[in-house]
Amino acid sequence: MTQKLYNENQYIKEFTACVVSCTEGERGFEVILDKTAFFPEGGGQPGDTGFIGGVEVIDTVERGDDVVHICAEKVSGEVECSLDFERRFSFMQQHTGEHIFMGFIHKMCGAENVGFHIGESGVTVDLSVPVTGEMLADAERLANEAIYKNLPVKAVYPADDELENYEYRSKKEINGQVRLIDIEGSDLCACCGTHVAFTGEIGIIKIVSAMKYKKGVRLTLQIGRKAFEDYADKHENVHRISVALKAKPEEVSEAVDRVMAQQKEMRFRYTQLKRNYYEIYAEDCDGEKCCLFDDSGDAADARMLCDILAQKAFVAAVFSGNDEDGYKYAVASRTYDVRKVAAELNSCCAGRGGGTAEMVQGSLATYRDMIECCWREIELNDE
Ligand SMILES: [Zn+2]
Repeated sequence: MTQKLYNENQYIKEFTACVVSCTEGERGFEVILDKTAFFPEGGGQPGDTGFIGGVEVIDTVERGDDVVHICAEKVSGEVECSLDFERRFSFMQQHTGEHIFMGFIHKMCGAENVGFHIGESGVTVDLSVPVTGEMLADAERLANEAIYKNLPVKAVYPADDELENYEYRSKKEINGQVRLIDIEGSDLCACCGTHVAFTGEIGIIKIVSAMKYKKGVRLTLQIGRKAFEDYADKHENVHRISVALKAKPEEVSEAVDRVMAQQKEMRFRYTQLKRNYYEIYAEDCDGEKCCLFDDSGDAADARMLCDILAQKAFVAAVFSGNDEDGYKYAVASRTYDVRKVAAELNSCCAGRGGGTAEMVQGSLATYRDMIECCWREIELNDE
């Protein structure tokens, strides 16, 4: 059984230990020490990384009463060990932050965290029941206030017969000694993970996304250093948008709305101009087959323009795109079943598409020359 130093002091970064065993496993050498400060993966918290005797520790997992360190190379004897403590501290911040947030939301509506995960993009929390935006905002505010109060985070080990006197959240049934993490006025939860000693170390808790998930809600939280990094990233983005749109940072949202409205207006005018142009072009259609190439690559444009051409031509087509990316097409007719035309185009131009007798849309993975050649070859049968 490994002596678990992280339960005695979660801030141990370096320690000396003896190698009990070192065997080759699937992911590397599996090293068991007589004692360790490396926390093994569990309860949503990833396993620690670092070095043992100068050898990289890729991951740490629990196996029975032992902690197994997955190492890149063999180690033996007495070894100096060091954790990637920056990474571990970030997990401690995120883990403790999750406790506080869950404590408040649980009190409000009885929500349990049924899917906790600390990942690269933040902390994921799956709430077991639906919650309102107001509840989330309240829980977030109360959690941050608990941080400002710098409350102690204590581990309590109640005796079996005392346990029923405690009102605590529990993620799953636990065998053996129960360890309760007590954050005054905020949360009491059974947990074996690593936590900060005082809530002030967490820094900040921010909900960055909430979406319906199964019967409840899936939240992404940014906590601690990760929240600061997220803030810095978003600040940089807002700054860039602010410079590009010549708007104050706090007014970029209105500025984006303005640009979107302008774009919509321009799009409308552009479509009108294009419609005029195609109407002029359609004048020259000889009434049999008529096709046009357009480099915009826009399927909706192709559809509209083709419809205009079909007012004049017996069968009309618009090919939109370029030789590099291929072409979108629309074929239309008021009186002829264009599905036959499309089938011919598809077969000779590596295409696909579908539609009605009046209009077919699709795409062709070939060159303009090839399309023009095919188009000339297509014969329209009398119906
Ligand atoms: Zn915990």
